[in-house]
Formats: sequence, C-alpha cells, structure tokens
Amino acid sequence: MSFADLGLSDELLEAVSEAGYTEPTPIQAQAIPAVLMMKDLIGIAQTGTGKTASFVLPMIDVMAAGRRRALMPRSLILEPTRELAAQVAENFEKYGKNHDLKMALLIGGVQMGDQLKALNEGVDVLIATPGRLMDLFERGKIMLNGCELLVIDEADRMLDMGFIPDIEFICDKLPTTRQTMLFSATMPPVIKKLADKFLDNPKQIEVSRAGNTNKDITAFKVLVKPRQKRETLEWMLRNDHVETAIVFSNKKTTVRELNKTLQRNGFKSGEIHGDIDQSTRQQELERFKSGDINILVASDVAARGLDIKGVSHVFNYDTPWHPDDYVHRIGRTGRAGAKGRAFTFVTDADAEAIGNIEKLTGGEIKAFGKDDVRVELKDAPKGKSAKPKPAKSEDAEAKPDREDKPKRARAKKSDDKPRDDRPKKPRADKADKSGDTKPRRKYRDEDSEPVPAGEWNGPKPDFLGVGFD
Ligand code: AMP
Repeated sequence: MSFADLGLSDELLEAVSEAGYTEPTPIQAQAIPAVLMMKDLIGIAQTGTGKTASFVLPMIDVMAAGRRRALMPRSLILEPTRELAAQVAENFEKYGKNHDLKMALLIGGVQMGDQLKALNEGVDVLIATPGRLMDLFERGKIMLNGCELLVIDEADRMLDMGFIPDIEFICDKLPTTRQTMLFSATMPPVIKKLADKFLDNPKQIEVSRAGNTNKDITAFKVLVKPRQKRETLEWMLRNDHVETAIVFSNKKTTVRELNKTLQRNGFKSGEIHGDIDQSTRQQELERFKSGDINILVASDVAARGLDIKGVSHVFNYDTPWHPDDYVHRIGRTGRAGAKGRAFTFVTDADAEAIGNIEKLTGGEIKAFGKDDVRVELKDAPKGKSAKPKPAKSEDAEAKPDREDKPKRARAKKSDDKPRDDRPKKPRADKADKSGDTKPRRKYRDEDSEPVPAGEWNGPKPDFLGVGFD
C-alpha cells in the first residue's frame, strides 16, 4: 500500500515524499482514511508506530477547507507534555508546508505573548498542554466553541499526570458536533469511560499492544544493590558499546545528582526533568540530538514520547513504578528498525514493580548474564585456556572488535588510575610480547561450566556478582 491509496491530497503526498516516507505504517494505513471520512477514532498505539502522522496528515487535509477566526481555534490537539506538543508542532510544519494553515503552540514554561498574538490572529490548529489551555480559557483569552476537531493524544499518560478532569472540562466546552480522536498506549477503565463519553461511534484501531515490546530491543534486568547502581551504570556505559543512551530515573533529584556524577567522571551527559525550564529542556535535547552529549539522564514526564533517532541504549536506573512507563522508556530505543539494548536495574525492593512489568510484557525479562556481556572480562580463571571465543551477542558476532573503535562523545579516558574495566594485573599474552600495547579482548573459556542464564561463575566486574551468586 502507498500513501496515494489513502485519499490524501497531492500537496500532502508531496510533503510526505519529501519527508522520505514511502509506505504508510499500519496505524497510518488504518487511521488516515477514517479521519478523512470524518469518523471518530480510538487509536491504541505507542509512540514509534507513526501515530503522530496518522492524525496530523489527515487533519491537514480536513482543515484545508474553512476560515480562521480570532480567538477561536478550529482544531485542538491535547498533549500531556511540552516536548510532545513541540514534536507534534514540528510534524505540522513538516507535512503542512504546502498548505496555508496557521498553527499555535500553547505550552507552559514559555512566554505567553507570542502565543496570545497567534490566537488573536486566528489559528487552524492549536496544540496545547491541558494546564496552559485551562489557564488561558479561564482568563477569557480563548474560545473553544469553534473547535470542530479534537485530538487527545497519549491519554493514558494524561491519566497518570492527573489531567483527566481538565480534559473533561475542555471537552465540555467544545461543540458537540465535532470529530474526536483519542490515542493511548493502553486502555485503562478511566480512559475507556472517557472515550465512551466523548467519542461518537468511534473506529477502533489497535496496532500493537503496549505489552508487546519491540522485537528490535534486547531487554535485560540487572540485579543490583542500591548502593552499586551508579558504579554498575558507569561500567555499562563504558563497556556495552554505548553510542547514545537515555538513563531514566524515577526521581528528579536522582536525575540531577546522577548527571552531575556522570559529568564529574568524564561522561558527556545532560539532564531533562520537570523542574527545568522549557528552553533549557529544549537545549539539552538539541545537544543530545546533535551528538554534543551522548547520555541524557531523564525523568519520565520529560522524556515521554520523545522521538530521537539512533538511541542505542536505555537504562532504567530505577525500575519504573508503573509498568506502562517501562514500555515507554525502553521504546526510546529500537526505533525505526534499529537495534537497541535496554537495561533495567532491579533491587530487592523492586520485586513487585518488576513483577508487574513482566506481567504486562508477557514474560520474564532476562537477567543480564555472562552470555550477554559484550566486552572481555578480566582475570580469567587460572588453569583454563584463553582461547578466544566471541561473546554471544548479535553485534559482537558481527563486529568482534567494535569496542576498540573510538565512540562518538565517548567518556574521556584521561586518568591513569585503574578502572574496573581495565586489567588489574599485567597480562602476558601474545599482544604484549609483540609490543602491541592495545588491550586485547579476553574471552570466556570454551570449556567453562555451563550455568543457567542470569548466573555468572567466571571472572566478572564486581557488580556482575550481585544477583548472580
Ligand atoms: P511517532 O509514532 O509518531 O512518534 O513516529 C515515530 C517515527 O516514525 C517518527 O520519527 C516519524 O518521523 C517516523 N515515521 C512516521 N511515519 C513514517 C512512515 N510512514 N515511514 C517511515 N517513518 C515514519
């Protein structure tokens, strides 16, 4: 199927092809014709499925006919976070470039002046977070009775953030004859009730259940003691072929402290969380996208739905409290067919949380074990042969010497102090004799005792011992 089969205008098809998309994603293929036929829609889909374009594209064509009026936006898209709102706005700019549509972004944390000016001049599409919209509505700066089309995006996230009463309030102010679309990764009862109340005979599309995490993501849990989390993270950042990583924490204070520690230890990291003002958040994201920094420490709210290409790793420094957050967090990697690795740190106190996550994702997450280590582990057991054997991982098999190459924005290695990942004793292998000082990868012994997955009985960095003995 091609985009041309979906009924979109030629102007849109041109913009889509300029964006480089040749084929609609499953949600686009199902949603676009329905939206063009002015049907209400429920889309059960996560970010990463192409859901944004599934409503933005047909909306542009639907909105193409009609006139703007001051203070009365013609359509409204509600997003739970500023970043998501900004991302949707970018989509409108990209796909709507051949249309004469005016858009305004109404989000907290930025000056209101320009937003009010745009509203005064009349907008076709208003993209807003509920808080800022309510604020302006209550001050009489905006009227919602001209809004013919409403999108409630990331509804389950709105629920987590306590926005449902605001959404109900806003829906009540909109004309009853309107087109409504609701997108959510999951359908908890409250969202189902919201949909029953505000949508009229909706077409329901489900592209993949939230529990079905992406096949391109290799996920592990890493069993750690709380005080070893930082050391564990740093070891993994240095040794798991990390190109770019998002590190999630449940608390803003941890995000801040962790970022400081990582920077102190030579990593190029930045942070985003709810306490940081919008322009700084945007700047940090840009620095991450441009490769200026390669590690972003983040809270859930700030990072929800972020579409950043090429994130190789996600670390859950804290096991998320809500299973849905797990799906969303690890969904920041393995996007658009790329492979990704996701590590969730699990302490004894997280037993219940990880249990709930495994229930949602439909199976036990593999504990990180010896077969999953992608670098040489030092200090092989005495008396065993040191015959090289590639580590069993998809990348290690394809490119056994990957870690020898410098990585973009990799941690600087200026100190001469021994680190966990460096040999503690001088080596007497071939490389040393030949005068080649480059550290050689050391492999597991061919004949080492088999151990169940998740257990490790050989040489290991200290943290790998936790949970494996
Ligand atoms: P979303 O689910 O809206 O967050 O989109 C995820 C990513 O997929 C974004 O980077 C989009 O630019 C990209 N995308 C959207 N539609 C397509 C398509 N038809 N083909 C390829 N990539 C797409």
